[in-house]
Parts: sequence; structure tokens; C-alpha cells
Amino acid sequence: MIADAARRALEALLGERVRFDAPVGRHTSLGVGGAADAIATPESIAEVEALVALCAEQRIPLHVLGGGFNTLVRDAGVDGVVLRTQRLRQLEVDADSVLNAQAGVSHSQVTRLTLERGLAGLEFGAGIPGSVGGWVAMNAGIPGRETGDRVLEIEVATPRGGLQRIGRAGLRFVYRGVQGLPAGSVVVAARFQLEPSTREAVRAEVERHLAHRRDTQPIDQPSFGSVFKNPPGERAGQLIELAGLKGLRCGGAEISSVHANFIVNVGAARAADALELMRRAQAAVRAQRGIELEPEVRIVGRCEA
Ligand SMILES: Cc1cc2nc3c(=O)[nH]c(=O)nc-3n(C[C@H](O)[C@H](O)[C@H](O)COP(=O)(O)OP(=O)(O)OC[C@H]3O[C@@H](n4cnc5c(N)ncnc54)[C@H](O)[C@@H]3O)c2cc1C
Repeated sequence: MIADAARRALEALLGERVRFDAPVGRHTSLGVGGAADAIATPESIAEVEALVALCAEQRIPLHVLGGGFNTLVRDAGVDGVVLRTQRLRQLEVDADSVLNAQAGVSHSQVTRLTLERGLAGLEFGAGIPGSVGGWVAMNAGIPGRETGDRVLEIEVATPRGGLQRIGRAGLRFVYRGVQGLPAGSVVVAARFQLEPSTREAVRAEVERHLAHRRDTQPIDQPSFGSVFKNPPGERAGQLIELAGLKGLRCGGAEISSVHANFIVNVGAARAADALELMRRAQAAVRAQRGIELEPEVRIVGRCEA
């Protein structure tokens, strides 16, 4: 619940760019989950800055949503404000092949621009759906390559108000995450160092990565990508497959028969269906191998009563 005074302050700041009691699951790739107290879609960095400060001041919980490609929203919905970054779409490349991107820039915008300009370094991201903010926050990557390798600097809006630039020396990119962001801050932009190459070479790399995905992942079905992180020296998908769970269904969710570390929405799935499959996969792998699978997907929202 957002108190009336806070509601008025949000409306004064964002006008029609804030909606109350709004369904949020539809803004995620799995397409499930309940409503948020409010969804805010700021259209400038200045608005993000003011919103982050307002939520901190009014003690309203704030959750950031980029493309929603690695987020599972619980059926009972989300307390507080969900900040969508999708309108922060500025993207440019400078003379030193540095790509400057606002947080809501999508993976396809980045890929298009690097293809047009023949800039190498982020081709592996072509098949990783999401926004620049999500790539940075998740340190999205593939074995041997990750977003953090290319980050020069990021800019965040902090709960104390104002913006802060953090160079790569102040950040520690870890497996599917980044350390060094001030608590409660929101990434508003990032700078990536790329390398001059040719359009043909960049295109060939992009196509190689996309082809690998087409062969190994259920890309034509709604999912949130990898469900669990790979435990050291193991592949989560292989552990789940060896536990015999490929194809297991719960309601409208299924452990993909293409790749066992994906849960796909095969009908009218609920978040509870996906969470139950996750629980069963964890229990089976624990029983069979004594390994604890840790979720990679970010689960947000109220727990069911
Ligand atoms: C088919 C498919 C394949 C995938 N393959 C891969 C893969 O190969 N490798 C990989 O790493 N991932 C993969 N993913 C997962 C997903 O693409 C990445 O995690 C991506 O980085 C998510 O970006 P997003 O903007 O959608 O993040 P969201 O799902 O919106 O958010 C993810 C997390 O980042 C936080 N966040 C988002 N934006 C910001 C911001 N501006 N500031 C602060 N925090 C923020 C959110 O609060 C949340 O905790 C795949 C997903 C799908 C559906």
C-alpha cells in the first residue's frame, strides 16, 4: 500500500507516467505475476533521480525492472513502486569506440548499432535479451565472456539524491551480479569500450552466437532464461536432466525438454507453478547429488499468505 501523500507526490512527479495497482507480470518475459502498488516509467534520468530519492524519503520499496527477461514476479504482486527503465533509450558511440547507453536501451538496439558501425566486443550479447541496466546488474554473459569485461564506467541514481559515476575500478563483476553499487541505487547509464572491426566480422560473430542459441535453447517459448546458476564445475541444466525432470509440468509451466535449466510457459502458467518446479528441481538435485542449486532468476513480490 502506498500512503495517500506519497501517491500524490508520485503523481506530481510523473503525471501519467505512474499507474497504480498495475499488472507487472506482463512486462516480464514469462508473462506471469500479480500487480504492483505502482508502476513508474520515468522518461529522463532526472526523473529517475527524483523518483529514487522520493521513494527513499517516503520509505516506499522500489524495484527496478529492465526488460524483465530474468525476473519472476510472484502471483500476489509487488509492494511499492516498480520502476521501468524502458524510456531511457539514448545510445551513441564516440570517436574512441566507446558506447554510451542509457539503462533502458535494449540488447537489439545495441546489436543493431554495433553491426552498423562494425564495432566488436559485445557480439555475445546479441542473444541475451534485456536492457543495458539489466546486463550490468546481472553481469550477463556466456562462458568466458561477460558484460563486465567491457564496462568502463556506470552512472547510478542514489537514494540520497543525485547521480554518481562509478568507474570500473570501483566495481566488482561476479557471476551474474555486480558489487560496488550503493545500496538501493539504480543504474541509469553505462559506458562500454568496444573495438573497431568490420561489419562482416561483427555480423559473423553475432550470427554464430544466435545459431548456437537456436540449437540449444527453447527461444520460441516464453521463459526467463537460466533458472539456476551453474554450481562450480557443474551445469545446472545437466544436473536437472540427470535427475529425470526434463519435461516435468506443473500447471502451465514446464521444465523445458530442450534445455532443463529453462522453465517455459506452455499455457496459462502462474508464478506458483514456476516456483514449484524450481522447488522440485532443487529437491531432486539435492537428493541425487547433494548440490544446492541457487536461483539465477530474480524473484520479486509478496509471498503468498
Ligand atoms: C531466452 C533467454 C536467454 C537468456 N540467455 C542468457 C544468457 O545467455 N546469459 C545471461 O547472462 N542471461 C541470459 N538470460 C537472462 C537475461 O537475458 C539477462 O539476465 C539480462 O541481463 C536481463 O536483462 P533485463 O533488462 O531483462 O533484466 P530484468 O529481468 O529486468 O532485471 C534483472 C535484475 O536486474 C535488475 N536491474 C535491471 N535494470 C536495472 C537498473 N537499471 N539498475 C539496477 N538494477 C537493475 C533488476 O532489479 C533485477 O534484479 C536469458 C533470458 C532469456 C529469456
